[in-house]
Amino acid sequence: MIEVKEIKQAAAASNYLFDPMSTFGHEQVVFCHDHETGLKAIIAIHNTVLGPALGGTRFWKYDNESEALRDVLRLSRGMSFKASISGLNLGGGKAVIIGDSKKDKSEPLFRRFGKFVNSLSGKYITAEDVGTSTKDMEYVKMETNHVTGLPESMGGGGDPSPVTAYGVYMGMKAAAKQAYGNDNLKGKKIIVQGIGHVGENLVKHLVKEGAVVSIIDLNQDTLKRVASENGVTVLTDLDFFGNDMDIYAPCALGATLNTENISRLKCQVIAGAANNQLADETVHGKMITDKGIVYAPDFLINAGGLINVYSELTGYNRERALQHTEKIYDYTLGIFKMAADENIPTYLAANRTAEKRISDIGKVKLGF
Ligand code: NAD
Repeated sequence: MIEVKEIKQAAAASNYLFDPMSTFGHEQVVFCHDHETGLKAIIAIHNTVLGPALGGTRFWKYDNESEALRDVLRLSRGMSFKASISGLNLGGGKAVIIGDSKKDKSEPLFRRFGKFVNSLSGKYITAEDVGTSTKDMEYVKMETNHVTGLPESMGGGGDPSPVTAYGVYMGMKAAAKQAYGNDNLKGKKIIVQGIGHVGENLVKHLVKEGAVVSIIDLNQDTLKRVASENGVTVLTDLDFFGNDMDIYAPCALGATLNTENISRLKCQVIAGAANNQLADETVHGKMITDKGIVYAPDFLINAGGLINVYSELTGYNRERALQHTEKIYDYTLGIFKMAADENIPTYLAANRTAEKRISDIGKVKLGF
């Protein structure tokens, strides 16, 4: 039995909660615990000015609770920016469930989590994310209607990855226009890193347009299959950053753009699906700009998946979701123009644009 004294000591240890909430501007953080199912989840609601906070539920074996908290705060803020810059009437939220997605998942756990989501009365809408699947969301749906990213059989949009890939393709074409004066990718040497749900679909768009595509992944079976189906080249060395290429498409994990890798990059364009590609926004955003590389901001061009699940909220329509996703091309050109006009890196232009819409609409909502 834990003593009141120990609780007081732990709570006094640091300002580990309100300080980061204040720095990032979060509205609400909800800690969810259930002894019976072993559920330990954190729901972070960053901002609801534009609409309900939407963001997936990540199931991850975090080393400790503060790492889980940091992740959910960072990811939920990213969702606010992504929704805002894409013109969606959505706020930013995210949930993390602490555990091993291979061992700890169960129907009762997801249904208990669904009850917690339901207790927020629609202020937070969940969806699948890393470590969770549409099947898990079916369990969540049994306890709440505030869930999206459902299978097509349940009226949802199914896997959002093809739509994400389409948006990344649009963003890449816009970046090519900025770098080369036209958006034709024919003959461009493109390295796609990470041939997962998004990467594989992106490869198909690029091959169709006549790009010279090389792929790299940790999974050799995937590489072999995708290479033979699409006639692309497989890279064997994971450290390809010094290779001859026109465009680098990061579609694996985040933070692949660090000081060391950027110093060796020879490409003119970076455009990919991975979230948080810049290891340090301020340092690496500037470094890329100084090298004359056109960087298409990640949360702007990978918003197709969010646009797709947003479409579910008003009755899913694939055509409408794709039409909205196509606008990523113009949104990206707009960000390049702002960055050039204000002489700032493109990531900063994207952040400011997202923040401005939230602030402007916030003022509208306060009015009569
Ligand atoms: P995924 O898990 O299906 O695929 C990721 C792939 O990257 C896997 O095949 C994995 O083997 C590979 N990989 C991991 N580390 C690697 C490394 N060091 N080098 C090469 N390959 C490596 O994920 P996904 O759904 O395709 O998403 C890809 C990225 O895009 C993620 O960062 C994700 O957060 C982001 N994203 C995805 C969506 C979506 O709709 N799926 C939407 C927005 C953002």
